[in-house]
Amino acid sequence: MSFPDDIFADRESEVRSYSRGWPAVFDTASGSWLTDREGTRYLDFFAGAGALNYGHNHPVLKEALLEYMSRDGITHGLDMMTVAKGEFLQSFTDKILTPRGLDYKVMFPGPTGTNTVEAALKLARKVTGREAIMNFTNGFHGMTLGALSVTGNSMKRAGAGIPLVHTTPMPFDDYFDGCVEDFGWMERILTDSGSGFNKPAGVIVETVQGEGGVNVARAEWLRGLADLCQRHGILLIIDDVQMGVGRTGPFFSFEIAGITPDIVTLSKSIGGYGLPMALTLFKREHDIWGPAEHNGTFRGNNPAFVTAKTAVDHFWGDDTFEKETIRKGQKIHDVFARLADEHEGVSTRGRGMAQGLVFDTPEHAGKVCQLAFDRHLLAETSGPEDQVVKLLPPLTITDDELDQGLDILAEATAQVVS
Ligand code: PMP
Repeated sequence: MSFPDDIFADRESEVRSYSRGWPAVFDTASGSWLTDREGTRYLDFFAGAGALNYGHNHPVLKEALLEYMSRDGITHGLDMMTVAKGEFLQSFTDKILTPRGLDYKVMFPGPTGTNTVEAALKLARKVTGREAIMNFTNGFHGMTLGALSVTGNSMKRAGAGIPLVHTTPMPFDDYFDGCVEDFGWMERILTDSGSGFNKPAGVIVETVQGEGGVNVARAEWLRGLADLCQRHGILLIIDDVQMGVGRTGPFFSFEIAGITPDIVTLSKSIGGYGLPMALTLFKREHDIWGPAEHNGTFRGNNPAFVTAKTAVDHFWGDDTFEKETIRKGQKIHDVFARLADEHEGVSTRGRGMAQGLVFDTPEHAGKVCQLAFDRHLLAETSGPEDQVVKLLPPLTITDDELDQGLDILAEATAQVVS
């Protein structure tokens, strides 16, 4: 059935956000490419905002999904024990948790990243019996009441229209441009009973802030935070919704710091195929919710279990995928570092294949994305003022495709800032 061109503007809510700057109607997708209904192909350097680390319709994942559907595998499974779930749990244990010395219990909190963040915040409060959550400047954790409360973005927070849950905002690594190098000051606040400061239940943090503008926390900073949490009985929640599943290289982004968070949130690429799925991982001693104390209808997405399990088996049997991601990430970094050298008002930061090209004005970043779109490259901005072009290409992208996209970005940058 055909539809008028203005159906989106006329019928869909104005709140449409991600990708709304791309004036095309898309239809099919394969690997690193999206195709619109006119047949024009676009190179995808945004990959579902990090939900498509293995690209679009990866053939191995597609085959597993088609095989499962063709034999009438269960689609909606509530919290039933199913073969698809059991196989995912086994592969996740054998290929991801055990080799990393991790023994987390796994909860399926619902389909989205926000669902796992909400579960993590609620669990930290239940375990500790405390109320507040410590969060960081420019962090992003989701749009529901709890997740939004720990999100450091005034525009997003304004959307709530009402006061949010109480949190304790802290500066993310390097917020003061190198002025605060350790956690001594935070220690002082936490132990200053006279100040009336309540110890928080948990700390929620991204190792690289994706929506916040690709702000990278140093490994030492993360270790310092983990140590502080441990000494004060504060649960450390690493939100790996965007940076997990290999985006920065290792499966979990916190591996670089050698820390073991109390709670880990995963979503986006964990389903492998862009199918909604989320995990909340926590230590065995924190498995304190009884049956149904936290539940939801869409927690057992069995087709997602199938593609998630297939992805774990296919990509994470050894360290080849991790090494390739780091190599390709370095390639992006090298091009961005060159652009930063060549042009005034441009800098770069990132880790693995989450790389940002930072402009001194949002207009420049927006213009670069628009020129890139004109040359059929899909890229988006992030950061509090949308001044960072954030690259999240599929981790499966070929070198040729990467070069092609980086050339387009380099030309667009030269055009905008020169
Ligand atoms: N946490 C982080 C770090 C995220 O990047 C996001 C989404 N951008 C979320 C949570 C929320 O995930 P979702 O949009 O699936 O609810």
